[in-house]
Amino acid sequence: MTINARDRIRGGLFGVAIGDALGATLEFLTQDEIRRHFGCHTEITGGGWLKLEPGEVTDDTQMTLAVTRGILANPQSPREAVGKQFLHWFQSKPRDIGNTVRAALSFYLEFQDWDQASYHTHQVLGGKTAGNGCLMRTLPVTFAYDRNPEKMNKISRELAKMTHYDPLAEATCAFYNNLARQLFHSPENARDKKRFLEAALKETKKYCFDLPAETLETLEKAVLEISSLPKEELSPTGFCLDTLVCAIWCFLHTLTFEEALVEAVNLGGDADTIGAVCGGLAGTFYGYRSIPARWVNILKPKAEIDKLSQQLYHLVSGTTRHR
Ligand SMILES: [Mg+2]
Repeated sequence: MTINARDRIRGGLFGVAIGDALGATLEFLTQDEIRRHFGCHTEITGGGWLKLEPGEVTDDTQMTLAVTRGILANPQSPREAVGKQFLHWFQSKPRDIGNTVRAALSFYLEFQDWDQASYHTHQVLGGKTAGNGCLMRTLPVTFAYDRNPEKMNKISRELAKMTHYDPLAEATCAFYNNLARQLFHSPENARDKKRFLEAALKETKKYCFDLPAETLETLEKAVLEISSLPKEELSPTGFCLDTLVCAIWCFLHTLTFEEALVEAVNLGGDADTIGAVCGGLAGTFYGYRSIPARWVNILKPKAEIDKLSQQLYHLVSGTTRHR
């Protein structure tokens, strides 16, 4: 059975939501606490510090869908449209919102300018704006700009920088989109996943050459170490590079969508985001039909994700009429 583009886009978006819903139960727990209370967590049961209902999702999925809607509204130049979607979501008073994103969206309401909002956030947070809040939402960029990698990198970085000023956040998001693009085009029986990392690094260096050399070196070093990193050395934190490393590690060291996600969320820490970031990769690579039905069917935003992935597919395949 071949995995077509439609199946991969749907798989990617559902992958993000499933990783989020599955991982939210374990957010902020250590691996020891998870083992004691859950053994190995494999079902979408809700709960966690947000006291979710089973199948409820958090900011990771909500922001990913916001990015998708913004891109669909203005594929040529989506930043303002994505921003509108972020604000719409922000004004719905979400229970789960990261510090960097909250600060940047608040500053936007003050300045009405994303560059200023992002820069002020960076100042106020003491230069610490390389959180994973930009990484968790960036997958749709891969699908929308798949045919134009230069534009894909540009949009990926632009959307990251709306909230996350640190160049490492931009580099991490661009790398993730480049990696997802490699997976989007991968043969279905590809076994050597490491070569996708190498190809994605090459693309990132090509299209993000204007980022500080030190930033690209930090990214490259972290990525090249992943395959040989012992599991005990993974840090499941909210720092974008840590999240990327954890998510890719779980994708590399497993053979199915299900195994990858179970591995990812059971690392604990920022479990919903690591789950979402890993789920985006695994869903794109293995495709929608590889996702266990019990996970898809319990998701609250199932119909919405189905609809948006269909619309994104039409955009990619050129069947959307330009308005
Ligand atoms: Mg979350």
